[in-house]
Amino acid sequence: MRNGFALCVMALAASVASCALSDAPVEANTPATARALSARSPTTRPAEAPAESPEPTSAHAPGHEPAETLGKARQVAEINRQLIGLAKAGKFAECKPLIEKILAIDPHNSVAWYNMACVHSRLGAPAKAVGALNKALAAGYSDFRYMQRDPDLDAIRKRPDYKRLLARNDQVQRDRAEKMRKALQDRFGADYICQVDHTRKLVFATNVDRTTLEEVKTVLTAHAEALWKDLFDHRFEQYVTVVVPSADDPSFRRAGVGGYYAHVQRMLVARQVGMVLTHEFTHALHDADQDGLGQRHPIWIMEGLATLYESSKIVAGRAVPQPNHRLNMLQRYVAAGRTIAFKTLLNYDQAKFMKHAQTAYPQVRYIMMYLHAKGRLKKWYDAYTAGYGADPTGGQAIAQVFGKDLGQVEADWKRWVKAQTAPPLRLPVRHAYLGVSVRGQTDGLRIARIVKNSGAHKAGLKPTDVIVGIDGERMVDSGALIRLVNTKKVGEKVEVRFRRGGEYKTVTVTLGAMPAHVAGVRPTPRTRPKRRSVPATRPATSTVPATAPATRPAKKAA
Ligand SMILES: [Zn+2]
Repeated sequence: MRNGFALCVMALAASVASCALSDAPVEANTPATARALSARSPTTRPAEAPAESPEPTSAHAPGHEPAETLGKARQVAEINRQLIGLAKAGKFAECKPLIEKILAIDPHNSVAWYNMACVHSRLGAPAKAVGALNKALAAGYSDFRYMQRDPDLDAIRKRPDYKRLLARNDQVQRDRAEKMRKALQDRFGADYICQVDHTRKLVFATNVDRTTLEEVKTVLTAHAEALWKDLFDHRFEQYVTVVVPSADDPSFRRAGVGGYYAHVQRMLVARQVGMVLTHEFTHALHDADQDGLGQRHPIWIMEGLATLYESSKIVAGRAVPQPNHRLNMLQRYVAAGRTIAFKTLLNYDQAKFMKHAQTAYPQVRYIMMYLHAKGRLKKWYDAYTAGYGADPTGGQAIAQVFGKDLGQVEADWKRWVKAQTAPPLRLPVRHAYLGVSVRGQTDGLRIARIVKNSGAHKAGLKPTDVIVGIDGERMVDSGALIRLVNTKKVGEKVEVRFRRGGEYKTVTVTLGAMPAHVAGVRPTPRTRPKRRSVPATRPATSTVPATAPATRPAKKAA
């Protein structure tokens, strides 16, 4: 049984360290209680938020110089290091003066108040413990799930004042969400629309437009409801903030990062409302389930689920994963005998996983896809979470649901992978085509170039128009455009919905045949991994329909 106290302290140290990278010091009144803690395992995913995490900081005290704040943060981190040792050794009486020292530096340090409650509880001062917990809540502590599992607080569980404190959970979370909404509005300004959904515990912020906000709400709601029905038993306890900046928002222009989810801050940023948004949101849903279970799953499971659902359709309330470009890559690795052995992959930590990201991402997606296709995903997840104590890697549960040893499942899986039909990455010469090259944008595909005399040209589409849908199907991922056009014949008509300026319009395009000079561009699959929060191998931009996952924006037009 782990000691909750020590982990809390470590979580704080970790969050202080990461905010030292940021110009956004985490201060007391910040509603995004970064320090209030993923007390679970701060080492599972170090520094998941990029350095310029957009955590709202407007609430920090005026006149608080960043340098001074950082100095204090370092002092607090140093004291915390000492605390960890003492708490692990069970020397709670010696912890107390150290926590008091932290509170003298930072009187609103919610984790320090929480730790003080643990110390009082351990030292047989239950009334003081509840008093300190109340102060922790007032300072922004909000991880009730952790509080209820923490063995350090066992001594106060039956007290009526503790129970009254627990009953405030909903209100505390609601208040935090409203504060977060206000902080986002203050931080990002009037261009952003900020809203709270109390039913699903989500806070939204976007400066794209209202249409996009409504879409994000609809997509995430459907996604959450489907996964809560299909897979996860625990919903969000704390609100998750979802920020969708427009493509040209300078606050978020960070090369290569399409999005991330930082669990400590419960903050999701997605610069694209397609794959990136659903990938990161699946992380948020899965993390909440892990919190509810009191577990931390290995990276292959976290990325496996996020990549599984990144391309999925909601059909009758269930999320149905769709093939995507990761299959094309995986089939090449399988054919070349270059996949990672299951027993190795399942034991990877984050660093090893990222080192082998090119192979690891497609592989974990299609392990999950295999479980799903064989109707065993839910069975596996249930068996895995039930047997987590005996095997946190998930391998035993795989063997169990297939009734075979892991090596045999792996051999079956390879045969299955080879037999799958990979989605097209490009269209051949003379195939029906639209006549555009596009770049992925937050909410659609921005036209970079138009082929003269093509269907798109004749229909009056122009560069900078953003294609958002074709024949009623949403177009955000360039791969989806190729997949759709691939199903069409020369001479067929499609309805293209697009945004020009702030207006949405629809035109009918008659598809022509792709000339050889347009189709002649060789695809160059992009595989450069960034960090865990970015779905590796996601085509950032693409030339359509000639070369799907090309990296360069709109090379030769198609
Ligand atoms: Zn991910």
